[in-house]
Amino acid sequence: MQYYNSNTIIYLNGAFVKATEAKTDLYGQSLHYGLAAFEGIRAYKTHNATRIFKIKEHFERLKKSCELVGIPYPWDNKDLIKKTYRLLEKNNLKDAYIRPIVYSEPQMTLVAPEKVNIMICAWEWGAYLGDKQLKVCISPFQRPNPKSTFVEAKISGHYVNSILATTDAKKRGFDEALLLDMNENVAEGSGANIFIEKGGKLYTPSLGNILAGITRATVIELCKMLDVEVIEKQINVEELKNADSAFFCGTAAEVIGIHTIDDTVYRQRWSDSIGYVIQRAYKNLVLEKVNYEVII
Ligand code: PMP
Repeated sequence: MQYYNSNTIIYLNGAFVKATEAKTDLYGQSLHYGLAAFEGIRAYKTHNATRIFKIKEHFERLKKSCELVGIPYPWDNKDLIKKTYRLLEKNNLKDAYIRPIVYSEPQMTLVAPEKVNIMICAWEWGAYLGDKQLKVCISPFQRPNPKSTFVEAKISGHYVNSILATTDAKKRGFDEALLLDMNENVAEGSGANIFIEKGGKLYTPSLGNILAGITRATVIELCKMLDVEVIEKQINVEELKNADSAFFCGTAAEVIGIHTIDDTVYRQRWSDSIGYVIQRAYKNLVLEKVNYEVII
């Protein structure tokens, strides 16, 4: 995967600069200890224009992530949103993945930084996990304990846990990992939230031990429109495996069906599941198509 080339422009601390000429410091806390906050955002070429889906929500979460862990956030989100649209234009990107990151100035102590940088880059990107259904395993790695960090902050260091889980899953022949929380209840994927379907209703782990996904919130909104009941609650592994179907959702993954969890196969056909309806409704929403398929 090539993320940039000699023409790529990034946004760095108020200026648009060439990616190949931009520099970072090797003496920063972000590199050494993983204290940086970031976002993953998608832009879609719609029939209107290129639209960045839920851009306000993503920059709000970036700010909140920084505030939670004591990283200063001296920027105005309205301005950053304008700059992000400008960045896409400068790189002539229409369907893209956008990555803002806030990271520290050179400083190696264990106190939160006083000075920070913001970088926003973008690259062309299609579907993350593809449209197939996933073979998922329950990871031997748990999600970080909320008493050891702010799990609702999207902080670089948390992704060591995600990398360990995904690498282990792929090594064992699965597509993705599902991580449990510290009480062995279902938490989330390495980069996506989970919903299960049982008896015509959807269930998803309540907030507290997971990242509050923007796609998760969108799925809940779509369910309201589609008159599908969503219950947020603790879900144990038995409930997960006894479900009729299940899906992951996230900015990158969008909505993607789960075929198996370990050796448990979901018997309901994906095309007969609520997840399938949500998958199509989500695609219509991000592409700003007016006619949602509201009939289940
Ligand atoms: N959980 C984790 C751990 C993630 O990294 C992501 C991706 N940001 C999500 C859930 C889904 O969040 P969102 O829908 O905001 O992309």
